[in-house]
Parts: sequence; C-alpha cells; structure tokens
Amino acid sequence: MKTTPMSWDQWLAERAALRRERGVERTDPVLRDDTMIDLASNDYLGLSRDPRVVAAAVAAAERYGAGAGASRLVTGTLPVHRDLEESLSDLTGWPAALAFSSGYTANLGAVTALAGRGAHILLDAHAHASLHDAARMSRSPYDVFAHNDPADLDARLRRLDGVRVLVAVESIYSVLGDAAPLAELCAVCRAHDALLLVDEAHGIGVAGEGGGLVHALGLAGAPDLVVTATLSKSLGAQGGTVLSAPPMRDHLVNSARTFIFDTGLAPAAAGAATEAARIVAREPELAAAVHERAAVIARECGITAAAGAVQSVPMQGPLEAVAAREELRAAGVLVGCFRPPSVPDGVSRLRVTARADLPLEHVAKAAGLVRSVVDRSAEMSLR
Ligand code: PMP
Repeated sequence: MKTTPMSWDQWLAERAALRRERGVERTDPVLRDDTMIDLASNDYLGLSRDPRVVAAAVAAAERYGAGAGASRLVTGTLPVHRDLEESLSDLTGWPAALAFSSGYTANLGAVTALAGRGAHILLDAHAHASLHDAARMSRSPYDVFAHNDPADLDARLRRLDGVRVLVAVESIYSVLGDAAPLAELCAVCRAHDALLLVDEAHGIGVAGEGGGLVHALGLAGAPDLVVTATLSKSLGAQGGTVLSAPPMRDHLVNSARTFIFDTGLAPAAAGAATEAARIVAREPELAAAVHERAAVIARECGITAAAGAVQSVPMQGPLEAVAAREELRAAGVLVGCFRPPSVPDGVSRLRVTARADLPLEHVAKAAGLVRSVVDRSAEMSLR
C-alpha cells in the first residue's frame, strides 16, 4: 500500500513547535531604527554611511550600471573590479585579490576549489557556518579541531600523514571576538604541509592597523596561506574576496564555481568597497577607535576584553539572552543575541560590538545599560 508523507503544512507546524520548545525561535527581522544606539551591526568603522564611500557607490553605478550584467569570465569584469582588487591588495599586503559576490561565496569558492575528493578538511570548532557549508560541498571528509588549539590541530594532522589537508580558521571570531593564535597555527600547518585558510571577515579593518591579522603578523603573501574576507563588515559595502599568491588566484579563476557561475559583483558595491579599502589603508586611527570603544564595552560589561570589535557577554540560556536583548531594544540599545544552534559550545551570548563612529560616552552609557540588564537577568535566574 502506498504511504502518504506528512503534508507540508503539518511538517512546517512540527518544525515551528520544535523551535519554540527549544527556545531557538527566530522572529522575523525587525526594520532598522536609526534612532537606536546600534551595538549589533558589523559596520565596525561606520563606513557604510561615510559620504566618500556612498559617493563612490553612486559614481560606480552611474558609470557602469546597476548590475555587472554577466559573470566575470563572460563580460562582467569591469574596471571597478580591477580597482577593487588592487585596493584590497594594497590594504592587506597580498599580491593578488579576487572579488566574489559575498564573503559566503568567497568561502564556498575557495574551499571547494582547494579541497575535494582525496583531500581532508580540518575546521576550527568555532568556524563560521559558511566554512562548514563549504567543507560539506567540497565532498572532502572533514572534522573540527578544538577552538584555537594548535596542539589539537597538530595531533590531528599527525594522523593524516600523507593526505592533502586544508585547515580553515577565522582570524577574529565572529561571536566570541577572540583572535586565533595564527603564528602557531601557521607553524603547525607548515610542519605538516597543510594549507591554512584564514577567514578575515572580522579582522579586516580592525586587526593591526586595519589590514587584518595576517598582515599585522607579517604573514601576508605566504604561499601556504590563503585569506578570505567579506566587504560587508568593516568595509561597509557588500561582496567578498580571496587574497592569495598569484598562482592561487589563477587556480580560483579556473576552478571556484562561485566565481565562475556567479554574476560579477554589482558596480556600486565594488566602488564603495574600493573607496572604503583606500580609507582604511590611509586612516589607521579608525581601527584604533574601534579598540578604544571595545575596551570601554568590556570594562562596563565586566568582561575580559576580546581582541576584536565583538565583545561577547555569556547568558544563562537562550530565553534569558532573548529577554535581555528585547529589554535593551526597548531601552534604545541594539545588541546581537547568539544562541544554539549558532553557538557551537551551546552557550547563549549577547554580542556587543564596538563602532568607531559612535561617541565614546554613548558607547559607555549603552554598555553600562547592558551590564545592568545582564546582572538583573542573572539575579532572577538565581531566585
Ligand atoms: N565569514 C564570517 C566569519 C562571517 O562572520 C560572515 C558573515 N556573517 C561571512 C563569512 C559571510 O560574509 P558575507 O556576509 O559577506 O556573505
């Protein structure tokens, strides 16, 4: 007898009930309200609203159109893409840059082009979802190693002797805000001939003088290293990039499916990111302003300062985290709220980010408010 599967309506209702039961229901996105103090965005340097960046977006759209019109290898490569790739190279110290339509597709493209059958992938346990998706798509077997733990990575690489291995980490982690021990991880990878991919989504514009952590550590340009980044956080635009030595760029142009089969980055985004990269390279005081504000947030919230713009405040559970976020929203302060399944260690957190363009006293006041809401929440759960 033919069995009928559950109806789609029933299946959706079941999924929704399960999310609510686990306290992981996400509400529909709320429209941004510019009267709020936004300590949730990734626009760390405030460049998305910088008049020079906005003017560059407008100029590129007027000159080249609203869209690139084709994939890069057909007729979608425009002078603004070349300018963008040059400005990213200048900012980060890498000889070659390749633009993608997002940081997500940069990771998918780089990982799938570099790994694949016959290779193995090792991911840091806190690596971004896009790196996990990329690993799955690559069809390589993959495992995670303990977060920021070069000794665990070394032990796993020992067991993979003779296998071509791609190791993927972030430079500054997106939820915890902590920095990877990149020099040590790089040395371990070198000892085992593994290729190290570093996602600098949260490092560019913030680490070092703004050129990213790889650059600050003098590792830019190394042939056994490759960097991916987004243009949508510190650079205030949209898009992604892979930074590498020239032979790697040639390989990606020929093999990265998210480069080959995707329309070229929209001219406005490319123009904006080009200008933003030039500004970051010229104005190291922007990164310094982020660090100053990050220290204020950590002090006011009573936590140890993390290396990046992101400061992470642990909460008792997902429901407490959501309640705190909502209370802060009602008081005019926006913070991020991360909970399972987005946090690999299961600890729900408020994510409070420093922004260079917010006055220090506003940041201090808002962070003080975060502290009082978090403390009250902790007291209530003790009762
Ligand atoms: N990598 C990391 C570490 C990220 O945090 C993000 C954005 N959340 C991405 C990649 C994806 O970048 P994009 O938003 O440009 O697709």
